[in-house]
Amino acid sequence: MNKCLFCMIRDGEIPSDKVYEDEHVIAFRDIDPQAPVHVLIVPKEHYADITECPNETAGYMLDAARRLAVENGLTEKGFRLVMNTGEEGGQSVKHLHMHLLGGRQMTWPAG
Ligand code: 5GP
Ligand code: ZN
Repeated sequence: MNKCLFCMIRDGEIPSDKVYEDEHVIAFRDIDPQAPVHVLIVPKEHYADITECPNETAGYMLDAARRLAVENGLTEKGFRLVMNTGEEGGQSVKHLHMHLLGGRQMTWPAG
């Protein structure tokens, strides 16, 4: 089976602006940022979406998201974490990822 886009980024086969990496996850800046801070937190293991991953994986992603929110100075004013899931959820890359968005006022409901 062909590797997906985020597996290729994980393996360094496609360049990315990586901002964090540990045993379980990598994080890199979104190529089409929707906010001044827009980072994608991606488990190293391939899961299609949040319905497929173990709880520990979701925990590792949240740990990284919290750390990155602090590092990017977002905790005072706030930020948004998003996991688009499936077709109606607007997911375009079928490798589980969490968006960390911050640095501007968010609106709700999201489009
Ligand atoms: P989704 O729409 O699946 O929730 O989010 C996928 C995200 O991946 C989008 O925000 C899109 O801009 C981003 N993206 C797509 N291709 C690339 C790429 O090659 N590099 C990076 N850094 N981000 C990408
Ligand atoms: Zn993948």
